[in-house]
Amino acid sequence: MGSKYLTAQQARIFGICPYKYYLQYIRKEPISYSQEDILKKLSYASRIVFYAKEQDACAKIEEERDINHVYASLLDMAVAGTISKTSKYIAELDFEYIAKFIANELSRDLNEGMLKCQWHLQCFGMTGKELAIRACYMPDHVGKRIVDFRHKLAGTIPLAHITDHYCIPIQFEVGSATTNGIEKEDIMPLMINALLATEGFGKKVHLSGILYTKPRKIFSIQISPDNKDIVKEHIGLIKECTTFAPTTPHCHRCEYAQVCEYNASCKKLM
Ligand code: SF4
Repeated sequence: MGSKYLTAQQARIFGICPYKYYLQYIRKEPISYSQEDILKKLSYASRIVFYAKEQDACAKIEEERDINHVYASLLDMAVAGTISKTSKYIAELDFEYIAKFIANELSRDLNEGMLKCQWHLQCFGMTGKELAIRACYMPDHVGKRIVDFRHKLAGTIPLAHITDHYCIPIQFEVGSATTNGIEKEDIMPLMINALLATEGFGKKVHLSGILYTKPRKIFSIQISPDNKDIVKEHIGLIKECTTFAPTTPHCHRCEYAQVCEYNASCKKLM
């Protein structure tokens, strides 16, 4: 295995193509990001910043007319925060282009947030902190980095929906599910997230979710009591893997397409 702890992202890459996992985490081949890859990073980071700052911003809502203003400044904060988080990738991109892209990416999140606030204000008369706590995710439940020493797992849970009794970790996947459900390679990361969330938030996890951004859809899997054993077995499989067989159907959207010898041989055969 490439590192001491397995992350959900590593498990996902292994599920997409074991050879890609080998190139990225064992041979540590530098990644050549396309503009599309960089935009995916912007999209992911913008959601983390948006949800992490939403509760504090919404605590300033005292009346209905504040909502528009609060969400407009929240968008500005999301743009600034995303630029600072992704600065090493975006040197070539124009600021105005980035700001427009983020505004477009977050338009659904913004609208949903504004509607939630309006609903809490109109139906229950909530304002300020009370409204923010009821309508938004806790900043501590957004982008939480967790290490599970027992199971040798590590990773960041983008969003966690937490109640008194349970927790639902939610993964962000920039892009769409190609079928009407969860992609095969996303199942193991969701199982890993369930273990990480149990460790990091100390709550039971019965469901593990994924948000596909285009079109925006949320799916979840049920977490069974044998989840731990399934993940353990998968860690063993990756650890003991020596062949790292290429899975060529994914080559067209692979960051290693230029350096991968298997992709080159595919092209020659075509
Ligand atoms: S180019 Fe294709 S075979 Fe090579 S690592 Fe990427 S997905 Fe795997």
